[in-house]
Amino acid sequence: EVIRSAEGTRTGSLLDHIDQTVTLMGSRLLRGWLLRPLVNLERVHDRLDAVEEFAFRSVERSKFRDALKSVHDLERLVARAALGTAGPRDLVALQRSLAIIPRIRTVLQPLQAPLAASLLAELDEVPEVRDAVEATLEEEPPALIRDGGAIRPRVDIELDDLRRISRGGKEQIAAMEAAERTRTGIGSLKIRFNRVFGYFIEVSKANLNAVPADYHRKQTVAGGERFITPALKEYEQKVVGADERILEREIELFENLRTLVASKSGAIQDSARALANLDLLAGLAETATVHDYTKPQVHDGDELSIAEGRHPVVERDKGLAFVPNDVTLNASSHQVIILTGPNMGGKSTYLRQVALIVLLAQIGSFVPANRAKISITDRIFARVGASDNIARGQSTFMVEMQETANILHTATSRSLVLLDEIGRGTATYDGLSIAWAVAEHLATDTTARPKTLFATHYHELTDVADTLPGVANYHVVAREWQDEIHFLRKVEAGRSDRSYGIQVARLAGLPIRTVKRAKEILTGLERDELARGGHPTQTTANTDPQAQLALFTPPPVDTPVTRRLREVDLERTTPIDALRLLAELKRDAE
Ligand code: ADP
Repeated sequence: EVIRSAEGTRTGSLLDHIDQTVTLMGSRLLRGWLLRPLVNLERVHDRLDAVEEFAFRSVERSKFRDALKSVHDLERLVARAALGTAGPRDLVALQRSLAIIPRIRTVLQPLQAPLAASLLAELDEVPEVRDAVEATLEEEPPALIRDGGAIRPRVDIELDDLRRISRGGKEQIAAMEAAERTRTGIGSLKIRFNRVFGYFIEVSKANLNAVPADYHRKQTVAGGERFITPALKEYEQKVVGADERILEREIELFENLRTLVASKSGAIQDSARALANLDLLAGLAETATVHDYTKPQVHDGDELSIAEGRHPVVERDKGLAFVPNDVTLNASSHQVIILTGPNMGGKSTYLRQVALIVLLAQIGSFVPANRAKISITDRIFARVGASDNIARGQSTFMVEMQETANILHTATSRSLVLLDEIGRGTATYDGLSIAWAVAEHLATDTTARPKTLFATHYHELTDVADTLPGVANYHVVAREWQDEIHFLRKVEAGRSDRSYGIQVARLAGLPIRTVKRAKEILTGLERDELARGGHPTQTTANTDPQAQLALFTPPPVDTPVTRRLREVDLERTTPIDALRLLAELKRDAE
């Protein structure tokens, strides 16, 4: 979901939401930054400081972004020049982009952030390239040099001469047409040109009788005949010869120019890279301003805490009032957070938002939160939905376990781990046991205790927090009101009271009968769980009151104590007898 949404498109991804760059180069760079976040604290600070300054200097930012609109994809253009595939329009686009640089330098001159200043120093308009292209090529040249006419007049004496010859020849041919019309008296006579025959005189059928004897017939066409004359061919040779040579010369001149550009490709690339960086830093400042992000405090200590964090993508959903949430992770009391709460409660969103905020901070971006203290993270592991792999023939459970194995083997104490449900694809006890063991491993492993957010629907898992000091319970708050569930989307300390699965099923449109029956079964299961000392078991309650028997009824308990109890007639027992009996029973039981 960083560079592609769950649907596989760029739309809906984090990249898409925060990309406010003006140039394609800036946008490509942002993708690169997101895929390779920094672990070097100094570099993170450098970027953050530059973004901060851009955010602060809104006038300069807006002028700069305006200027960038005329900058083309310099990186691509210079690569094409170096490969010899750039056409005349490419070189003109390159020259125009370079020509903007002095203005950009002036606009950004007040910037003081060290990164911004050093990028500005790298900007180079490469004047020899800019001037050469400007002097050589027409302002609006054809796309292909072969189309002719790309080179300006007065660039090359030979080219100018050839053009004069060609033009003169064409003028003479035009004059000849008028002369031939008068000589033959054929008003509709035309001199035309095609690639196969060169120049020819075309006479319509009706006028063929007036064709003079010195015309040589060349071709019969639908409307008439085509002729040539020796004089016409003479001019043709001049014109066509000159035109061919013109094209050759234009190509030569263009190739020289392209070679010159290619020879400066290093300097142009450097400039392009600096422009892309500046574009991106200003773009991140724009995002921060538009979406109300704050500068995170990134440090190499232990504490990761976010106040009123938001999910950068979900918060933009139209019609959704996003509820901000806090998080604290540290090695002592909050190393593993077990997050419970109903489905649809907002657990996945919460997990993802923490990871995305950390990622944003480590590319040097501001973050969607009120305050954020981010400890440098070496890797972010996310074990979330595995739907893609099902198509590849691997079961959800297998994929889930492979991913979990990878996390347990590779995460370090500086990692951030997100586990969005573990053990769903197997039997309840298996799943719970694995989830429990994984939580314990993450909290107690001596070599690596990564900061972990563990969303689970296994309530039992909240007991882990009772025994391990680094584990804390949190839950997403939901309320039941008039038999309807209401999601508050607030994450609070403590375990959730129950899972609300049936209410969610009802919300999803399960038939009322099925929902009612599920409630009965749940009640039965819960009672039975209590009867067996908290151990869940499989049981059923039937709607028929006559047959309210559990499927696996435990054998009746028969001990001296229970036998005594059965014998007691409560109607005839006085309070003092009852106390005496209780004392006896207690003695027996011991
Ligand atoms: P869960 O993982 O608990 O099943 P999700 O995280 O998938 O729940 O959230 C379900 C839906 O709730 C999301 O699609 C989103 O529309 C909404 N939601 C989640 N978190 C919030 C929030 N903090 N504020 C508002 N709406 C939220």
